Amino acid sequence: MTAWTGTQEALAAVGRNRAHTEGMSRVLSGAMGSNGVTTVWVPYRINDQLPRCAACGRKVRLPAGAATADCACGGSVAATSYI
Ligand SMILES: [Zn+2]
Repeated sequence: MTAWTGTQEALAAVGRNRAHTEGMSRVLSGAMGSNGVTTVWVPYRINDQLPRCAACGRKVRLPAGAATADCACGGSVAATSYI
């Protein structure tokens, strides 16, 4: 699984990736596997993250797209990977 910032970025990256092109050739030639599928998934809704504050242990609501959020105790939390 891989992730990009947007659909067009994903399509551009895959299109110019030699390993992907060679893998698709193998799949399409019938030399690999008996079935398969490729997809580009787009999130329907990305909810807030709820990282735990290292200072006090509380969960802190971190809005989708935000890099950091402040905790009521004065601590701070940072976004992590959604995958
Ligand atoms: Zn805290």
